Amino acid sequence: MKENSLQQMDGFYKELISTWLSEDSIVFQTPEPEVIKTCREKAVPLINISPPIVKYEDFFVIMKQISEVIQKYQPDLAEEITKIISALPAEPSEKKAFVSKAIIPGSSFTYYFNEDVNQDIFDFMRNYSVKPFMREYGKYMSSLYDLEKWLKGFCPVCGSYPNIALLEKEEGKRYLSCGWCETKWRFNRLGCPYCLSNESQFFTMEGIDKYRVYFCENCHGYIKTVDEASAGNEEVDLLWEDINTIQLDFIAMREGFSNQKANLALNDSEK
Ligand SMILES: [Zn+2]
Ligand SMILES: [Zn+2]
Repeated sequence: MKENSLQQMDGFYKELISTWLSEDSIVFQTPEPEVIKTCREKAVPLINISPPIVKYEDFFVIMKQISEVIQKYQPDLAEEITKIISALPAEPSEKKAFVSKAIIPGSSFTYYFNEDVNQDIFDFMRNYSVKPFMREYGKYMSSLYDLEKWLKGFCPVCGSYPNIALLEKEEGKRYLSCGWCETKWRFNRLGCPYCLSNESQFFTMEGIDKYRVYFCENCHGYIKTVDEASAGNEEVDLLWEDINTIQLDFIAMREGFSNQKANLALNDSEK
């Protein structure tokens, strides 16, 4: 999108995140207390023991809505989107399997589509289709662990790496936030959440104290951070802050850093 269409971009993202679910769109299963306790001690994300049960028809309804929003704001993508929609599964059993996989962060669909389909556009559609389900799942499941004590670099609910962080203004505690299920948990004040190196450096944008970008020379990861003390009295909405600070992502990536939010923290050991 062009620079002068920032306002349009604002409307675009607002529509993307305004999809909603019916009450039976998602079902949660609460694991037994002993299972929760053991998994908490072993730092196992809850999605590994009790994934959400998603009504697959509703997922495809939302994906259709998302595709319409994209086409409204980006009419030149209409053809690509039509290709994606027509390649989606048609049989109930295939649809069900597709959705169970789509909600797991880091799972790939490169095997599913032929080269005709633009994976980046599909991933974008998928992210926003998964969002309303995972947000509900995150709200429910995050209450099963003590988020103040999790202190890991990955999400206690879904295992994703964080996409943004918050420095809280009272005591300067740091919280990491998951872009997949929107869970927020406490982490050490300093250090890299990806490789756990103690190194911590950051840059800011001139004149804007509210945002810092912490980067790691060890793994070349970066994380955008909102400094609540510099945010005034306005309430900080991390989902929206992430969308609004895309410029910081461009700067960090240009400097050779990458945000690892798409990767599953437990990829190596679990898969
Ligand atoms: Zn998560
Ligand atoms: Zn690192």
